[in-house]
Amino acid sequence: MSSAHSPAVPPASNFIRSIIDADLASGKHNSIVTRFPPEPNGYLHVGHAKSICLNFGLAQDYRGTCNLRFDDTNPEKESEEYALSIQEDVRWLGFQWEGEVHWASDYFEQLYQFAIELINKGLAYVEDLSPEEMRTYRGTLTQPGKNSPSRDRSVAENLDLFARMRNGEFADGAKVLRAKIDMASPNMNMRDPAIYRIRRAHHIRTGDKWCIYPMYDYTHCISDALEGITHSICTLEFEDHRPLYDWVLDNISIACHPRQYEFSRLELQYTLTSKRKLLQLVNEKHVSGWDDPRMPTISGMRRRGYTAEGIREFSRRIGVSKSGNNVDMAIMEGAIREDLEARAPRVTAIINPLRVSITNFDGALTREAGFHPNHPEFGSRVVPFSSELLIETDDFAEVPPAGWKRLTPGGEVRLRHSYVMRCDEAIKDAEGRVIELRCSIDHATLGKNPEGRKVKGVIHYLSCAHALPAEIRLYDRLFTVAEPDADREVDFCQFLNPQSLTVVQGWVEAAVQHAAPETRYQFERLGYFVTDRRDHQPGAKLVFNRTVTLKDSWTKEQS
Ligand code: ATP
Ligand code: MG
Repeated sequence: MSSAHSPAVPPASNFIRSIIDADLASGKHNSIVTRFPPEPNGYLHVGHAKSICLNFGLAQDYRGTCNLRFDDTNPEKESEEYALSIQEDVRWLGFQWEGEVHWASDYFEQLYQFAIELINKGLAYVEDLSPEEMRTYRGTLTQPGKNSPSRDRSVAENLDLFARMRNGEFADGAKVLRAKIDMASPNMNMRDPAIYRIRRAHHIRTGDKWCIYPMYDYTHCISDALEGITHSICTLEFEDHRPLYDWVLDNISIACHPRQYEFSRLELQYTLTSKRKLLQLVNEKHVSGWDDPRMPTISGMRRRGYTAEGIREFSRRIGVSKSGNNVDMAIMEGAIREDLEARAPRVTAIINPLRVSITNFDGALTREAGFHPNHPEFGSRVVPFSSELLIETDDFAEVPPAGWKRLTPGGEVRLRHSYVMRCDEAIKDAEGRVIELRCSIDHATLGKNPEGRKVKGVIHYLSCAHALPAEIRLYDRLFTVAEPDADREVDFCQFLNPQSLTVVQGWVEAAVQHAAPETRYQFERLGYFVTDRRDHQPGAKLVFNRTVTLKDSWTKEQS
């Protein structure tokens, strides 16, 4: 396995790494094989990103391998589009799976033969109770289940019925194949779980070849074993399924017996980590699609401007454990911001313009300004100054609050990369709104401090004649509460934040005019932005998505 990523920081220790260390030290394994096993029934989300970083990251750190395997046993919900998006997302995150993509459906014939082996051993039987009846027989957490009349069928009868299930002689749902384990087990998963069901559905890989499909628990352990997985890592809700994982592998003729380890699922506050719920947001058009920049999907985060490096760093910071992993969005935003801080060139944009006329300046002036204070190699561009400027509306206050350092009537500020400017007059419309400022500059302050007085505030501006219009998309949290799906009785859509997207017509400097899609910038004082992957057209239609705001709106940087 190879990856673009070589971690600068050593990976944090966790209980899975301790297990691997011990397995390698004892000689139980010489190298490790992990897998990432998504079901192609939706786009991957931030929780999957954690699992990807864990599985591929372990393989990378221990010089092992990691497979990508699609768990494609639910044909009605799966699609090629999802499978392709998943591969793209894994690669974009910086990982590459070992060899070809694997599919559980590659093993359908072997899975079928193993089921016959179980029948032959008296360890599986065909059930014809209805689903309701099966539920009644199953018992409850406090009451043991009872044996179904089908449990005592002969091996010969089971073989015959199972073959006829495969041949399509029975209606969907009319029968299932069950493992014969223990109807009184305190673990409900061990009460003769169904391992095959009849479902006439077109499958993205096997077409109409099969009308019976193996169940997840049965498929997963065998797929792991067939691929020689050493450490099968999954989320905590599968802990109670582990005895079944082991039971299946203990009772079929297969040499490899991977071990399953569970870690806690990532929950990210103010958003959702469930494909089913994200699909609902897409289907009900609460968002523009799976890659809407407000979505916690990998493709949404990418379109929002998050970097693969930042997401990997986030994943490293949240760690891997068995305890609750309900994470504050600030941890994600911090990781993204830190990554962008060093790599994004800094330019100027105005998102809420206020016109400024300079009454004592004629003609034109340009100054050279670097793209990044700590990275001279990023180069520089020319910043024009003229008598008609745009500044941010909220950099002016007619009645300034205490401690105000920006513009106010009669007050002075420094214009970034340029002069000190004084506001002489605020022009208002009929409703009393300030629509323009008349200002004058101190000609002696170009790149120099004024004599005899201190000017504290620094604001940014664009020259009207040189500014380019741009669509700027500002994002806020998708939900108004930290855990929108906490209450099963309440539809999480009720908590959608109506202000999660604001589109404004703003202005940018000419230096960004030909930026390709997915180019990242810091708009000074406003945040990190990325040109939209879909809608931005270089040189024609400029569309910027705000990735994340800046922590500090302004540092004391001098022009
Ligand atoms: P969802 O509930 O969103 O559909 P899933 O677990 O059903 O998720 P899979 O496609 O089966 O989705 O998941 C592939 C892998 O990603 C599994 O190993 C699963 O454990 C892991 N995974 C899914 N969600 C999370 C999460 N929130 N945190 C960590 N790992 C996750
Ligand atoms: Mg699943």
